[in-house]
Amino acid sequence: MLEVATAGSESIRVQDLAVPFAKRICDHLKIEDRQATNPSSNFLAACRQYNSGEIDLDTLVSSTISKGFRYVFDAFHQVAGEDVPQRFFILEGSGGNRVIHPTEQLLGINRSTSAVLEGEVEARWRLVETAWSIGVSAQLLDVQMNGATEELIVSRDLDTRKSIGNAKWAFSGYQDGKCFYCSVELDTIDLVMTQTHVDHVIPHSLGKFMTTDVDHVWNLVNACADCNLSKSNNMPEYAVVERVYKRNEYYIQSNHPLKDAIIRATGKTAAERVRTIRRAFDDAGKLMPTSWNPR
Ligand SMILES: [Zn+2]
Repeated sequence: MLEVATAGSESIRVQDLAVPFAKRICDHLKIEDRQATNPSSNFLAACRQYNSGEIDLDTLVSSTISKGFRYVFDAFHQVAGEDVPQRFFILEGSGGNRVIHPTEQLLGINRSTSAVLEGEVEARWRLVETAWSIGVSAQLLDVQMNGATEELIVSRDLDTRKSIGNAKWAFSGYQDGKCFYCSVELDTIDLVMTQTHVDHVIPHSLGKFMTTDVDHVWNLVNACADCNLSKSNNMPEYAVVERVYKRNEYYIQSNHPLKDAIIRATGKTAAERVRTIRRAFDDAGKLMPTSWNPR
């Protein structure tokens, strides 16, 4: 919708949305054939047929208009079963005559920010489809970062390790497009690509002396280049570590696919998670001073 809306149109016909929508699904099917919990989707079957050259674009578009948007518009403004207060579009008409009117909320998202949003959404989706591809639900996945490449690696066990792409895309949305430490804006595609670093809140170098896994997503955030350099291998004060607990709670409350990995690493209840993070902080404090804070 952002792709079509930023072209300046005040209304979008459902058939115009069908092409970019179906093509995204077709691209994801090429990466991973499983794209839904229900294996018998007629729409996904049409996308597979398009990928293999059995049907043309017009046939794919008709299939998308009749079947592809099932539940999509209905679910768009719902989070955790409740309507969100914002409206990003108004839908009019029915069937192939549906027209989408984007609101200011949607049109206000600029192209660069929308690219960041897309990166974040893609990262979520890669996590879910990768979980399916290795035959587990997202609840059973472990998620760690490869420090050398900054890729997030998901696994069920040692034999099923898969990269789901650069870790910073998984964190950007939950920091409101800002540096975790100093809140400088990292909300455009250029800033994410050039100025954003994935940082271990409790330094990676302490990991081998600790019982808590610090290479795990619960301990990773996006930082600007200045904070990344200033923090380097230093251990932050507790207030900073406590904020990562709060960030993790957002993942858990919003049903993000990283939710279960964070719960498995830090605890089932909020009280347990506070204790885990406090213990990790105390353990790290025995190894180095806990005094760094963002300027
Ligand atoms: Zn910063």
